[in-house]
Amino acid sequence: MKSLGKMFFGCVLIVGLIHPGHSQQGEVVIKPHKISDQLFMLEGQGGNIGFLSNEGGVLIVDTQFPHVAPKIVKTVGEMSQGKIQFVLNTHFHGDHTGGNAVIGAEATIIAHDRVRERLSQDGRTSPAAYPDLTYASTMTVYFGSEEIQLIHLGPGHTDSDSIIYFKSSNTIHMGDQFFHGRFPYIDLASGGTPTGYLNNIRRVAGMTNPQTHIIPGHGPLATQNNFLEFIAMFEECSGIVLKAKMDGKSLEQTIADGLPEKYRSWGTGFIKEAQWITVLYTGS
Ligand SMILES: [Zn+2]
Repeated sequence: MKSLGKMFFGCVLIVGLIHPGHSQQGEVVIKPHKISDQLFMLEGQGGNIGFLSNEGGVLIVDTQFPHVAPKIVKTVGEMSQGKIQFVLNTHFHGDHTGGNAVIGAEATIIAHDRVRERLSQDGRTSPAAYPDLTYASTMTVYFGSEEIQLIHLGPGHTDSDSIIYFKSSNTIHMGDQFFHGRFPYIDLASGGTPTGYLNNIRRVAGMTNPQTHIIPGHGPLATQNNFLEFIAMFEECSGIVLKAKMDGKSLEQTIADGLPEKYRSWGTGFIKEAQWITVLYTGS
C-alpha cells in the first residue's frame, strides 16, 4: 500500500505549474475522446491521458495532477468495469505524473528507469508516486487482446521519455514528444535535446500509417498527417536556426529575424516563438 502526504500535493502542483500543464482556472472537466471501443484519450488539465479498458482490465497512461486524479478515477470508473490495474508514465514531469500517488495507490506504475530516478531525486515527490516496474530500452505489456510496447528512443523531450505503442489498436501515445499544432517544450535541464527529439519523432513516423491514431502530450487527438506536419515544422525551424547560428548570427538577431509567417499559430501555446528559437539555438 502507498500512503499520501499533504506535502506532496503542494509540491507536485508547483512542479506542474512551471511546466506546460494547462493551469486554466476553474473546474476541470475530463473529456473522453474515443479512438476505439476499448481505447480513449482523456483530456483534462495537464498531459493527455490514454485509457484502455478491455477483457484484461483497465490501464491508463499518465495521471495529470493530484487534484485532477479523483476526477480521472471517477470518469474511468463510469466508463469501464473495475479499477485501474496499471499506470504507464510517458516521462517524469509533474503534469504527467502528479496524480501517480493517488491513482497508483492500488495500481502498478510502469515507466522508464529515469522516471523513478528523477522522481526520487527531486526530494519533493512522495515514494507513493514512484514507478514500481522500470525498464531501460523496451518493455511489452500484454493486456487482454492488446499488445502494448513501451519504447525509450533516447533523450528527446527529457531523458526519461517513453512512447507507448498500442500495437493492436494502431495507436501511439507520444507523451511530450509531440505537441499537436504547437512548438514543443524541450527540457534541456533534464537531459532533453532538440537533435534527439527530432531523431525520435522521425523514427516514430516510420511506425505509422495513414490509419494510425496519435495521442499528443498536449493538444487534440491526431492523425499521421498532423504528426508529419509537426515533424516538417521541426525540421524547417531547426534548419533556419542552425543556419543562422553557423552564419555567425547572434541568438538575439536570430529571434529578431523570426520564423516563417505560416508558423505564427504554432507559437500561441505555452512555448512562444522566441523560446522555440532559443531552445533550437542553445540546445543544438
Ligand atoms: Zn513534459
